[in-house]
Amino acid sequence: MNIHEYQAKELLAKFGVGIPAGYPALSVEDAVAAAKQLPGPLYVVKAQIHAGGRGKGKFKELPAEAKGGVRLAHSIDEVAANAKEMLGNTLVTVQTGPAGKQVNRLYVTDGVDIASEYYLALLVDRKSGRIAMIVSTEGGMSIEDVAHQTPEKIATITIDPATGFMPHHGRAVAFALKLKGDLAKAAQKLARQLYDAFVALDCAMLEINPLVKTQGGELLVLDSKMSFDSNALFRHPDVEALRDETEEDPMELEASKYDLAYIKLDGDIGCMVNGAGLAMATMDIIKLNGAFPANFLDVGGGASKEKVTAAFKIILSDPAVKGILVNIFGGIMRCDTIAKGIVAAAREVELDVPLVVRLEGTNVEQGKAILANSGLPIISAEDLGDAAKKIVAEVKQAA
Ligand code: ADP
Ligand code: MG
Repeated sequence: MNIHEYQAKELLAKFGVGIPAGYPALSVEDAVAAAKQLPGPLYVVKAQIHAGGRGKGKFKELPAEAKGGVRLAHSIDEVAANAKEMLGNTLVTVQTGPAGKQVNRLYVTDGVDIASEYYLALLVDRKSGRIAMIVSTEGGMSIEDVAHQTPEKIATITIDPATGFMPHHGRAVAFALKLKGDLAKAAQKLARQLYDAFVALDCAMLEINPLVKTQGGELLVLDSKMSFDSNALFRHPDVEALRDETEEDPMELEASKYDLAYIKLDGDIGCMVNGAGLAMATMDIIKLNGAFPANFLDVGGGASKEKVTAAFKIILSDPAVKGILVNIFGGIMRCDTIAKGIVAAAREVELDVPLVVRLEGTNVEQGKAILANSGLPIISAEDLGDAAKKIVAEVKQAA
């Protein structure tokens, strides 16, 4: 799960991290009220979307020369004018894809006199099995470009979970940023605060780009991106409350409401399967027969009729789906329950693509009878190989 920049900053501030003052705003009036609480004379109005590259982004509805999603304002009137131009419009950045994202929230924050920009990120590094800090003197720009053009300017520091964060990790961060004296001390302190926040909040990623040195010699977090391990969210209801559903893929969001593991893929055969292993095998056998899956969908072990119906609707709402393969092994989950769910869902949504169902296991005969007597054009399959052949043939025939 991702959150907005301003939410991440509010969380980090609780760990003592230095951030410029600022307030979120949902309207032009909010933005003006926010600016009035700041000292000025320089303000920054920032689009809040779950994507980076906002500064260099472009608004779809505005002329090409219009400013992007991070704007400096020199007066409260300018804050208002910028807020008016940004709210409700669609920002396209390198990370949003061509469709862009509608800007519904802003963050009005103190303008900072920047001397240098740095990069500092924490992530779970699978290779070392540790939390890694990625540090670079080249902040404010795309870290992918830095990694590509000048990889020697990126330092990676991993932290052994058995020792936790040690003073030498902080010194390594300060050294990589080429900071000395008080600034080096500030960097060490910041690195520890970020590590503490990362662990305490069960983060998956925490990226500060840029971290800045101000003209006054302070170290401040100017932008922050934070994402969380969704398996640990139950431990953090306060973090879960920060979820902004308008930012998420509507199908994946719907799936998460029913506790379905759903991932959208590029092919045209929708899959509904129980168990991750069987889902992988189903995707493999579709490919073996010359087609591609449109999704990964695991309805899990003890799925109810409601869950199956929801899964079915999610698959059908994807316009790329040209055929559906249901492959269920009824162990804990009974085949008749699945069959009832399939029939109910197929009746509720207009089923205009071929549907092949392979059922096996507990109550399989009852399940097959429910499908056969439903009056719906459901194609039954004997086993996995037969099911894959049938759905691929159906989809190719329809094309
Ligand atoms: P994004 O990464 O989405 O483009 P950032 O918050 O990193 O958005 O902003 C882009 C650039 O705008 C920063 O690299 C920095 O130079 C400038 N900037 C951002 N916030 C401020 C601020 N509060 N004061 C001054 N400049 C800022
Ligand atoms: Mg940034």
